[in-house]
Amino acid sequence: MLRKILVVNSGSSSLKFMMFDMKGEKMLAKGLVERIGSPNANLVYSRAGEPKASSPVAAPDHAAALKAVLAVLTDPAKGVLKSLKEVEAIGHRVLHGAEVFKESVKVDKAVLAKIRKLVPFGPLHMPANVGGIEACMRILPRVPNVAVFDTAFHQTMPPCAAQYALQPKYYKKYGIRKYGFHGTSHKYIVQAAAKWLRKPVSRVNLVTCHLGNGSSISAIKNGKVLDTSMGLTPLAGLVMGTRCGDIDPAVVFTVAALEKMDPARLDRLFNKESGLQGVTGVAGGDMRDICAKAAKGDEACKLALEMFGHRAAFYVGGYNTLVGGADAIIFTGGIGENSSDGREQIMKRLGALGVKIDKAANARIRGEAGLVSTKDSKIPCVVLPTNEELMIARETFALAGGR
Ligand code: ADP
Repeated sequence: MLRKILVVNSGSSSLKFMMFDMKGEKMLAKGLVERIGSPNANLVYSRAGEPKASSPVAAPDHAAALKAVLAVLTDPAKGVLKSLKEVEAIGHRVLHGAEVFKESVKVDKAVLAKIRKLVPFGPLHMPANVGGIEACMRILPRVPNVAVFDTAFHQTMPPCAAQYALQPKYYKKYGIRKYGFHGTSHKYIVQAAAKWLRKPVSRVNLVTCHLGNGSSISAIKNGKVLDTSMGLTPLAGLVMGTRCGDIDPAVVFTVAALEKMDPARLDRLFNKESGLQGVTGVAGGDMRDICAKAAKGDEACKLALEMFGHRAAFYVGGYNTLVGGADAIIFTGGIGENSSDGREQIMKRLGALGVKIDKAANARIRGEAGLVSTKDSKIPCVVLPTNEELMIARETFALAGGR
């Protein structure tokens, strides 16, 4: 039986990894190479249950970063593998599968060529995703690679949810439609929620809230995505760390005209300089810092929290209607798992759905599964920690021939 699986998430200047033993789904080691391409590249590494250590590495490109990762994983003192022969399959996080990849896929040359064609859907992330796969194919040629797409789980959306109200040519010619992101997390959460509810996946209706630096909410009908808050790109939907989420599209061309901004500048403004950070000035729009400042009376931070909760509650209410009444509302991601204030901002607005917050449980639950609504809440609100890497490992296991 297949056992040892490496999960790789390669970004433009970083390569994150996790090594799993699929017997018992144990994480053995994890880490990342950061600042790839700079002379100050760094490897952060830890074995399960041990503190992480950081050391400089030579990583001019992703292939070199991968070699450094494989070296530490097989290091006699620090490693978790006796030799590279133990790496039996590699799972890769890939940002965009467009309509080509509705599921995870084992990568061969033809598949890789198809993934390369999707670079225009994610010009920032896709080249690095492809680079990570190519490096693995070159360095470990006998090991199967599996691509797991952030968009795939959302491919079940019906046209009425996925299409924009534009002339058809924009969809037909350029593929402009809603794709959605965080699919791997939403999928993991649907499985975990079904377990929690003791129902088969095919019968659960949910509203899943993945709230982190980037945030998205999905409507799950009978275990499948009916709608999701992100769009063609991750810019749509909720108020996020540095992304504005939904705005009147006319704001874009109005600001462009007023401030003489070109598309690249507008992209930066709405993706990197808006959202919680834009409203408050707090770097990265970090929820911890915003809550701390709001508690001290900072008006901009108080407003940002209300905006965050208002927008999220709007989606939860709408999606609850669309799925015909959710069996549960699930919170996950850095904020969803850890921020009682962030969750309260949403739940306190859901009274019309019969949601009743359990203030003590909500204040207590942090980074673990638990109920944060009262027993008589009409819809249970549940915190479930996500695990995208494990989900990637599971998909890889299945496609690479594990049982
Ligand atoms: P990413 O989208 O980058 O994966 P995460 O899921 O790690 O992000 O979420 C990051 C967000 O979670 C930040 O806004 C951070 O402040 C928030 N967060 C993490 N831990 C806590 C905590 N203990 N209390 C409140 N917020 C937290």
